Order: sequence, then C-alpha cells, then structure tokens
Amino acid sequence: MLIIDVITIFPGMFDNIFEFGVIKEAFKKNICTVNIYNLRDFSDMKHSRVDDRPYGGGPGMVLMPGPIYSAVSFIKKKNKIKKKDKQKVILLSPGGEKLNQNTLKCLSKLENIILICGRYEGVDQRVIDLLVDFEISIGDYILTGGEIPAMVLIDGIVRLLPGVVGKEESLKNESFEKNFLDHPQYTRPGVFKGKSVPEVLLSGNHKCIKKWREEKSEEITQTKRPDLFDKDS
Ligand code: SAM
Repeated sequence: MLIIDVITIFPGMFDNIFEFGVIKEAFKKNICTVNIYNLRDFSDMKHSRVDDRPYGGGPGMVLMPGPIYSAVSFIKKKNKIKKKDKQKVILLSPGGEKLNQNTLKCLSKLENIILICGRYEGVDQRVIDLLVDFEISIGDYILTGGEIPAMVLIDGIVRLLPGVVGKEESLKNESFEKNFLDHPQYTRPGVFKGKSVPEVLLSGNHKCIKKWREEKSEEITQTKRPDLFDKDS
C-alpha cells in the first residue's frame, strides 16, 4: 500500500477531495492512504508560528526549517519504511522539475511519498538541502501555495496504482502514453446537432476501428502537440 503524507499550513484544503470517483475507491480498497499533517503542530513557537521574514530583506515571509524538519522526522519514524529508496520527500516548487506522466509513473512505484507544500515566498533553502529528494513543479506559473500542486500529484499517482482504474487497458491508451495524444471519443447519441459519429466506430470492425484511432491519435498529436510527435519519430 502506498502511503502519501502531506505537510501543509492549510490542512482543511484537503477536506473532501478524496471522496470522489476512482480516487475514493482506491482509499476504500486500501490501495493507498493519505495523511494530512498541519505544519503548525510541529512548531515550538508562540502561536504555533512557522514563518519568519527573509534574511537579507525583501517582501513576504519564508517557512522556517525547524517545523518542517520535525514534521518529516516524525512521519519517517511513524512509517518505518525499510527500503529507503522506496521513500521520497518531495517539495512542491515552481523551480522544480516539471511534472509529466513519466514522473507520475515512477512515483506510483514508491511505498511512501512525503509532500511539503510551500507558502508565502517559499521554504528556507536548508529544507531543500537537508530533507528534499525532488522538487516538482506543475507548470511555469506561480500559485499561492503547494496544496493544489500536491493534489494534482496525488490524483495523478493514485489512478496509476494497480487496481484503481477498472480496466488497465484504459491507462495504456491514454494521452502521453508513447508520446501520442488520445484519439477522439464519441458516445450516444449517434447524431448531435447535425454532427454524426464517424461511421467506422459503428462498423463493429475492430481492426478498422483500431487503425482509425491510431491515425486520429497521430493527426491530433501532430496538430496540437508537434513537440510530442517529434520526440517519438
Ligand atoms: N517565491 C517563489 C518563487 O518565485 O518561486 C514563489 C512562492 S509561491 C507564492 C508559494 C508556494 O507555492 C511555493 O513554495 C510552492 O510550494 C507552491 N507553488 C507555487 N507555484 C507552484 C508550481 N507551479 N508548482 C509547484 N508548486 C508551486
């Protein structure tokens, strides 16, 4: 079972988000568990303070290293993961490696993922130097905190765990598998506002359907994401 631990100053943001769809099923089936830790519980300062002004001046506040260090130590001690390479501490950070499907796949093979959500101007550099195995970014833009990036990561990882998505086949044919985007999908009705479902999909000829889907997948990738297409050819 994969254990995901999240360290945040806003634990309430995670209320309810795992109560829907296949992610909810993963928790019900004990394929995965997520623990949310309030960083303030690891502060030994007045008012459970966890941030301070940056040395050298400048705007905003920085998360102090002490509470994060204590939180990670507590979690590691609690989880008792024997194989150290199966446990990773990840900081969500705009400066990190940009998230992609391959990274999600690698992370889905771990036993324990500890996620640190930054806030304000970020975390003290010594957190990165002493604790963090990877920094991950969800894109070249700045959000107010690491909580939404952590949710993105969790959602992407959990659906890859064996037994979560009903038909493993559906994972194999998705966008970004083999650097191709997914082919178009159609469902009922057969005609909608004058637009018909491509005839081949109604033919029942699986060989022709497969060929049509492959061709569409190529065509769409070339049009929408030529960078992916170039990677593959
Ligand atoms: N001063 C930082 C900078 O310029 O890189 C931005 C800090 S941001 C306002 C606060 C926190 O939000 C970060 O420490 C990080 O945890 C999270 N965050 C913001 N954008 C992110 C992104 N694109 N990917 C991952 N985490 C992000």
